[in-house]
Amino acid sequence: MPFELSPSSINLFLECPRCFWLEKHKVWKRPSAGFPTLPSGMDRILKEHFDRFRDRGELPPELRNSECRQGYSLFQDTSLLREWRNARKGISWKDEEGNVLRGGIDNLLVKGNKLVVLDYKTRGFPAKEETYKAYQHQLDIYTFLLRKNGYSTENFAFIIFYVPKKVTETGEVIFDSELVKMSVNVENAERIFREAISLLKGPCPKEKCEWCERV
Ligand code: SF4
Repeated sequence: MPFELSPSSINLFLECPRCFWLEKHKVWKRPSAGFPTLPSGMDRILKEHFDRFRDRGELPPELRNSECRQGYSLFQDTSLLREWRNARKGISWKDEEGNVLRGGIDNLLVKGNKLVVLDYKTRGFPAKEETYKAYQHQLDIYTFLLRKNGYSTENFAFIIFYVPKKVTETGEVIFDSELVKMSVNVENAERIFREAISLLKGPCPKEKCEWCERV
C-alpha cells in the first residue's frame, strides 16, 4: 500500500518511528496537545504582506535590508504559488512505488533562473543556532520537491523569524525580523523519505516510551 508523507510526518518518523508507523498504518494518532493559533494567524497575514509587495514588483523592507536586496525578487506566478501554499495540494512527488511526498511552502524567491525557498516562523524569543537546525529537514524537503518537479534551485534557503519586540503607545505590537540563510541538502531529504517508507513496509517498531506502556 502506498503512503503519503509530509515534512511533519517525517519529523514524527525522526522523533518516534513507532508513533509514525502506528499513525501511518491508521492504528492510532498521537493525541494533539492543541495547536496555538497565533503562528497560523501570523503566517496568513505575512503571506498577505509579502503578496502586496510582490504585486508591486518589490521586496518587503525586511528583505530589502538584507543580502536579498540585490538580484532577488519574489516568485511571480500567483496561481502556482496558491497551489503550492495549499497544504493539501502543495508541491508533491511520487516515487516508483506510488508513495507520495508532499509539502506546502510559504513563499519563494527567484535568483536568476533559480528558486530559493523562503519560510516564515513566528517565535516568542530570538532564534538560536539549535532552532535553525530544527527546520533543516523541512527546507531540504521543499527544495527536493522543487527539483523533482523540474525547477532549478539554489543550494540554500531562507527562514525569516518574526519575534515580538514591543507594544506602542497606541497598542500596536511591533515585531523584529531576522533572516537566516541555510544550506540545503536534497540527498538528505530523499534518504530520509526512503528510510521512512522502508520502515513503514516492515513490522511496527517495538521501542516504547512510558506513554505507550500505559495503553
Ligand atoms: S513510544 Fe511514545 S511516542 Fe512512540 S508510539 Fe509510543 S506513545 Fe508514541
